[in-house]
Amino acid sequence: MFRKISAASAAVLLALSLASCSATAGDERAKTAPDSNKLQVVTTFSILGDMVQAIGGDLVEIHSIVPLGVDPHEYTPLPLDVRKATDADMVVWNGLNMEFGGGWFPALLESVGKDIDSTQVVESSAGVEPRYLASEDGAAEEMNPHAFLDPTVGLIYASNIRDALMANDPENAAVYEANGAAYLEKIEAIDQLYHDKIAEIPAEHRVLVTSEHAYQYMTETYGLTPGYIWEIDTDEQGTPAQINALVALVRSTGVPVLFLESNVDPRPMETISAETGTPIHGKIFSDELGTPGGDGESYLKMLTFNITQIHAGLTQ
Ligand SMILES: [Zn+2]
Repeated sequence: MFRKISAASAAVLLALSLASCSATAGDERAKTAPDSNKLQVVTTFSILGDMVQAIGGDLVEIHSIVPLGVDPHEYTPLPLDVRKATDADMVVWNGLNMEFGGGWFPALLESVGKDIDSTQVVESSAGVEPRYLASEDGAAEEMNPHAFLDPTVGLIYASNIRDALMANDPENAAVYEANGAAYLEKIEAIDQLYHDKIAEIPAEHRVLVTSEHAYQYMTETYGLTPGYIWEIDTDEQGTPAQINALVALVRSTGVPVLFLESNVDPRPMETISAETGTPIHGKIFSDELGTPGGDGESYLKMLTFNITQIHAGLTQ
């Protein structure tokens, strides 16, 4: 369910328009002048920034709004974000309800005068069949934004980004097409790796236990059963009812290990581990890339790291 722009987001909008008036001193990054020869691209969070970089190469200059370590589901843009979005030739967002917590993304677009339906504004999940989360109150369903954790969906994102770069910078279309083809081939190889690795996991161990219900697309595509504590990070995290439900699942499936996402509070999963005696195997990536130089520094690396960890844990 898409949240309507509410009174809360009207307040965000007001804050944004005030912020844009004072976007001058005090922000070091803002002092770097954009390279006018490059296509200026703003993305909402790190994973999309990396995909645009992979396909755009030297032709693009990227500003990714939500920094590492900050939840992309709910965010308040900074003055620099407003300035970059104002000047951007192209703005790339996830869609599927990812950037609608508090309505921050539509409010940002409105404040910089960009139309969400224009060619300039690119919904990278366009054409992806949404999966739905159960809402906290059980009343309505909400789209699960974490489609990109499924390599087969990554192919759709990459195709959309390639097409958008070609449309917004037609002079360099041939480069984007070639880079896109090479990138899609790498994602296809990772898709094959997921099939191969999951085939090696004993059928009774094909259960992926994480904190957030972020791997719904991936587990459906590759035949794993998802277990999770909460539906989405904006929900309450680790209530007694949530803990009890997952403890019951872990006990009934006998899954050998649990996983912890790189960007969540570890304590609820540690409670599950203590109660069931099932160890936490390690971290995997969900809402953001890892730090530069690390295992999840790019989208391709994070997908590969995730399946390597999942395979190692569940084949024990
Ligand atoms: Zn998430």
